[in-house]
Amino acid sequence: MRNIVAGNWKSNKSINEARERIAVMGAAMGSMPKDVRVMIAPPAPYLSELSGGERNGILIAAQQVSAFSDGAYTGEFTANMLVSCGVDFALVGHSERRADFGESDEIVAKKVRRCIDAGLGVVLCCGENLASRDNGSQESVIKAQLVSAFEGVSSEEMAGVVVAYEPIWAIGTGRTASAAQAAEMHSFIRSYLADRFDEDIAFRTSILYGGSCKPSNADEIFRSPDVDGGLIGGASLDTSDFQLIIKSDSSL
Ligand code: PEP
Repeated sequence: MRNIVAGNWKSNKSINEARERIAVMGAAMGSMPKDVRVMIAPPAPYLSELSGGERNGILIAAQQVSAFSDGAYTGEFTANMLVSCGVDFALVGHSERRADFGESDEIVAKKVRRCIDAGLGVVLCCGENLASRDNGSQESVIKAQLVSAFEGVSSEEMAGVVVAYEPIWAIGTGRTASAAQAAEMHSFIRSYLADRFDEDIAFRTSILYGGSCKPSNADEIFRSPDVDGGLIGGASLDTSDFQLIIKSDSSL
């Protein structure tokens, strides 16, 4: 099953709101398309409770993870800790982490390695800024991010990796990539995976689109064969909108 719709709640919601939304989503899972996996990335303080509770098949992701292993790193939480709490995935390399918290390609690569070694799934986020899109260098930017993130990653290890293409100029801006722009970049990423690994890995790896995806545009974006779902920020905060987006991502 390649299709995934993931909601990134960022730094939003109280624990009571988070509990309530997971309960509502869990109850709605029976009416969601069977070929789509649903993932939610709540704020870190809620991960242990939400992953340990009743979640009816919803995958739980951390919004970030430490580049270090367990040890004297005040304030960090590690991939091993997330696994021990029952967390399924971590977002790695989200553009807000890269821009606001100084996460370089090198740090992103370390995080990918930590997750893989701990047995934690990875949603590897990549995306170009507006200047790169405007000067036509978006493919080389994405390629450089992927080359760095997957340095030393084996084909077997790719089983736990999802890629999210998130053009920075479309995140939280209300401006979304056109279906054609998304299709083109997703196809580029899939070809890169085929070259770097093999056709089978390229076929099996989910490539999600993220950037102002909402019920009104999800259907069109998800129609491209190389778009396997979405990483949804703002629109995932509204449970009804999120459910509509999940329902858009069905091949049934
Ligand atoms: C995101 O932050 O990953 C994202 C895609 O946000 P938004 O949907 O709000 O653009």
